[in-house]
Amino acid sequence: MAARDAGPASGPARRPNRRPSRQPTRRKRRAPDPITAWVKRLDRTRPDLVRDVLDALASIHGRPTWERRLDPTSELILTILTQNSADINAEKAFEALRAAYPSGLPAERHNPGRGWGGAGLPDGAPPDWDAVERAPLEELVEVIRPGGLPNQKAKGILATLRAIRERRGDHSLEFLADLPALEARDWLTSISGIGKKTASVLLMFSFGMPLMAVDRHVDRVAHRVGLLPKKASADDAHDYFLAMLQPDEMYEAHVNLIHHGRVICQARSPKHDLCPLRDRCRFVDPAAS
Ligand code: SF4
Repeated sequence: MAARDAGPASGPARRPNRRPSRQPTRRKRRAPDPITAWVKRLDRTRPDLVRDVLDALASIHGRPTWERRLDPTSELILTILTQNSADINAEKAFEALRAAYPSGLPAERHNPGRGWGGAGLPDGAPPDWDAVERAPLEELVEVIRPGGLPNQKAKGILATLRAIRERRGDHSLEFLADLPALEARDWLTSISGIGKKTASVLLMFSFGMPLMAVDRHVDRVAHRVGLLPKKASADDAHDYFLAMLQPDEMYEAHVNLIHHGRVICQARSPKHDLCPLRDRCRFVDPAAS
């Protein structure tokens, strides 16, 4: 059996190593990813919080099932119309677009479901997006005026439609269904004026993609309960939720948190007595586990 180490006598004389001996190098510690660190901390200090919140919300709001709301371009423009406006007013502006720029396409049904703050659009064809994009700005401003902030939104709608057509040749966004969720979100957010919230709403509601849209209601409830770090912005919150939730929990989490924020955990007078989250809510008890 060969010796593992023949020893210095059995081989040629070794030349002394004249190179200075290496100092042990200090490994640089990578700064921990704040989102991963937060999720681990939550697991350690407040076990099962996410699951408990989802179950408690489902106990009073039910478990929503996904249904396509609208075609993706309509969903995008409707979402732009909801920015800083009540959903009911966004519906009026969208209806006005349908009437001013009829496409003659088959009517579609708006299935807003729980979490939507309007009455739901009546059945109708999507607007003719080519005609909307060609419309003079002043005209479009007047058409969507019932929705609020018409100057800002008309500019946003025209720029968005132009960006989609220049990249894709038309205004259809159905191709996004074939992309992985985050790639599709990146494609949309690379268009100026489209943020993670708008992109996630479109991809969740038109394609059922596992993304989480964080609006002011979701953000408020999540911060109050302590699901998110105090300093996490609403934009960052999107990625915190992606790390905290399983893909099949995201739609339910979005719908029930937004609905809870509308009907129970309102900004000014939250109804703690009716809330099934109160035992674990840091807004009610800063030491809640
Ligand atoms: S206990 Fe109160 S503050 Fe906490 S989530 Fe419920 S309603 Fe909101």
